[in-house]
Amino acid sequence: MRKYRRSYKYRFLMKMKIIVAKNIGFCTGVKRALDIARKSLEKDPLPVQFLGGLIHNEEIIKEIKNKGGIFISDPKEAKSGTLVIRAHGTPPLPPLNNVFIRDATCPLVKRVQEAAKSLFKKGYQVIIIGEKEHAEVKGIRGQIGNKAIVVENELAAKKIKQFKKIGVVTQTTQNLEKVNRILKILKRKATKIKFVNTLCPQVSLRQEEISQLLKKVDGVLVIGSAKSANTNQLVKIAKISKKPVWLVNSAKEIKKQDFKGINVLGVISGTSAPDWNIEKIKKRLMQL
Ligand code: SF4
Repeated sequence: MRKYRRSYKYRFLMKMKIIVAKNIGFCTGVKRALDIARKSLEKDPLPVQFLGGLIHNEEIIKEIKNKGGIFISDPKEAKSGTLVIRAHGTPPLPPLNNVFIRDATCPLVKRVQEAAKSLFKKGYQVIIIGEKEHAEVKGIRGQIGNKAIVVENELAAKKIKQFKKIGVVTQTTQNLEKVNRILKILKRKATKIKFVNTLCPQVSLRQEEISQLLKKVDGVLVIGSAKSANTNQLVKIAKISKKPVWLVNSAKEIKKQDFKGINVLGVISGTSAPDWNIEKIKKRLMQL
């Protein structure tokens, strides 16, 4: 308990106490992708094109555009110059003439892609536990010719037919408890099942931390984009507690009246929320 208390910063404003989570701000994969993108914009052949949003953060996208970055949604649209691959990865690219590739795929996402490829080569029916429409999942599926089945929830797992061998990987941002529930169902769907845990430890840590935080607060403020899978997972966990939860992306969204009756407020962020934005939000909370 003492150790847990020490890991938090306590701040007081009026009567409301704020507990800021220890694991907050950019994760290493997002930091790395941003670093690659900024360097690419400075020195790589122009135009510097980005295949989809580099990370799920509107402010960063704006910064890239202001520095001359161009966003495209299909690699075939790429002109000669540079093409930056987003942190979430991509399916294999078609042959591109005079296009220099800067790969900002997070190494942990690469790990999922490699695991899926290896299982596929060994004859397993690959199953990805994740969100069908998420860029990361599309990228993983693409690595094995879109032959993987994507399971979003327990119901979808129940609908899967019987296979001889099933190889399971997860989208990095999934929740471990949900993954375990789905695995239980999948075990009945094959004579042999191999599970490769490809969850991102940094995401899992935040999910654990919000669960702990919820025991101490009256409500929780989650900082991040509504497009971010790991941010949405934090919101989902908070909602289960039935305590109020606010998802905000900027200080402007913070309204005093929202926190009526909240004595202790928890603050946590998704992995693509920049530190400077978190600071602005903390300042805004102080001003209230
Ligand atoms: S959340 Fe994890 S997997 Fe996703 S970019 Fe960050 S470090 Fe990589």
